[in-house]
Amino acid sequence: MEGQLLDSEKGGKILSFNGNLYSRHSENRDGSRTYWTCRRRPVCKKRAIASKGEWGTDSSVVEVFKSLDHDHPPAPEEGQAIRAYSRMKRAAKQHPEAPPAQILRQHMPDTTFLFVEALPYLPERQTMKRTMNRLRQGDFLSNPKSLAELGEIPEAFRKTSSGKNFLLYDSYDEDDEEAEARRRESRILVFCAKSDLKRLARADTWQLDGTLFDTAPPDAKFLVRNWIAFSSS
Ligand SMILES: [Zn+2]
Repeated sequence: MEGQLLDSEKGGKILSFNGNLYSRHSENRDGSRTYWTCRRRPVCKKRAIASKGEWGTDSSVVEVFKSLDHDHPPAPEEGQAIRAYSRMKRAAKQHPEAPPAQILRQHMPDTTFLFVEALPYLPERQTMKRTMNRLRQGDFLSNPKSLAELGEIPEAFRKTSSGKNFLLYDSYDEDDEEAEARRRESRILVFCAKSDLKRLARADTWQLDGTLFDTAPPDAKFLVRNWIAFSSS
């Protein structure tokens, strides 16, 4: 019999099995068996015994060796809600550039078939958005107020999510006599993944789009260019 491990709010795991949820109680000496108690404790005192399972993944399957019928009806939608919410939080952390409202939209459909039933088990929309905002700011840098403040681009922002080079060129790295002076006036950063460069190289037509941002101190202007490639072949 298969059960699933879900992320708990406090960073632990919840066992979801046959529509019931369990909190982790203990494990045996070599960790091969884990012991769980119904989350409705003390109202319900039912327990379950399961295999170890893997932690640190979104949802991990465990073998449930033993469980008894509960004194209350199962509520599978509660597990759905917990899983949807932990996916949202994961997404907020991994994609700090995505607005919380968008993450909500993307991850809510997962619970569609139980959607209405799952809602009472989810925090209020505003609370979920606040939590996601907190998580996405964890990896975000504060906006630089001047070019000088920008400094070196941290490693995490130089790579794509799959670990490939994303920062193709940075004038900051130029090392000659005039570089220091230029650094105060301008900075050129080119972000592009190699695979997208290849895509550009194959395209017949390039369309260039630019956006000029005026920022808080009037001396700083950012020109952001997005290249969009179209190919007719
Ligand atoms: Zn129970």
